[in-house]
Amino acid sequence: MPIMQPRIESMNRRDLQDLQMERLQIVVNQAYAHVDFYRRKFDEAGLSPDDIKTLTDIRKLPFTTRQDLMDNYPYGLFAVPLRDVVCLQFPSGLYGNPIVIGYTQEDLRIWREMVARIMVGVGITEHDVIQVAFNYGLFLGAMRFNQSAELIGAAVVPTSITSAEIQLRIMQDFRSTVLASTPSFALHIVETRQKRRIPRANLSLRIGLLGAEPWPEEVRQIIEAELGLRAYDIYGVLELVEPGVAGECPARQGLHINEDHFLAEIIDPVSGENLPEGEEGELVLTTLTNAAYPLLRYRTSDLTALYYDPCPCGRTLVRMARVFKRTDQMITVRGINVFPEKIREVLALFPEVETDYTLQVKRKKGMNDQLQLLVAPAQAVTHKETKKKENLEEEMQMALRRAIGLRIEVKLTEKGERKEAR
Ligand code: ZN
Repeated sequence: MPIMQPRIESMNRRDLQDLQMERLQIVVNQAYAHVDFYRRKFDEAGLSPDDIKTLTDIRKLPFTTRQDLMDNYPYGLFAVPLRDVVCLQFPSGLYGNPIVIGYTQEDLRIWREMVARIMVGVGITEHDVIQVAFNYGLFLGAMRFNQSAELIGAAVVPTSITSAEIQLRIMQDFRSTVLASTPSFALHIVETRQKRRIPRANLSLRIGLLGAEPWPEEVRQIIEAELGLRAYDIYGVLELVEPGVAGECPARQGLHINEDHFLAEIIDPVSGENLPEGEEGELVLTTLTNAAYPLLRYRTSDLTALYYDPCPCGRTLVRMARVFKRTDQMITVRGINVFPEKIREVLALFPEVETDYTLQVKRKKGMNDQLQLLVAPAQAVTHKETKKKENLEEEMQMALRRAIGLRIEVKLTEKGERKEAR
């Protein structure tokens, strides 16, 4: 299988580390010079950018968290003037406490290249027709498939989240060879194909690029068998780039991180100590080339492990284990991230209910499928007020949908009724 940039992707480790070090010094200096937040962090730790002389010196710096990104909204973490920024993204929506990320032209060019690397790596060429069935409205990375496909000359059909029936029709009419989507949507297409009795032989699919939520091997097997393709996991971090941080290669022994653009560490999520190769912990990333929005030691909340031993594919870039768990309570349902604080922010708009809640997750084939929110009324809702109760549930459902972009069924519990199992 071809490697798009062998000079980088198969670089010997020592040279790669030199490249990372060179870039780390630049990013640290830029962050210190142009971002008050980082300058303060350095000063408080009694450090100057000159103290970062080796890659492990980065460990002297404190972490950056999602909360920091919210606290510095809107432009507090930008390292370039706005005139150099060409794209603004708000990775968790604009509701409540938002985050805004910026990219320069060069940042976007690099992002396209990172996704193109993953595409080339799994065998996508200019002969392919890529059906992008990600939600273009909610998942801002969907557009990157178009631009990266352009880079390698493949054709893109941006079907977004149109119905599975139409997806299948387009797949047949256009002879799509690649499906890019969330694994849950791919499963939905599988079920629809079975229901409509569309023969597998009518499909020309050969590759699946799936991500934006955790998906077990069992789901991979179903999708591969039912759609007749080989499915690859792609990984991104909403607050950095998604997709594009890492992707599986044909060996499928982990996802290669684009290490010329990210410095990866694994830490114990409780103590913050760095963990050795192969041990599971929280992934911490430092951006090495993001000019607009550098992130130093960003805690991704994703639990994984890193492997530096050689990969049969010939790449030397470190591999990360597939991600199934998080350190925080964020859950992903059909590719949409649900943060507990967003739910609390919505509930705070309704004085009729408590802000304490229980979220019940219905799972399908080992993946999150539907959410039900149980919340107690602040005052007893009597039987006479049943209508009111239904209205309230409906109103809360709509507010949650607006804030999160997902249907969450709301059920008011009886007063005093306590729920276990969050
Ligand atoms: Zn590999």
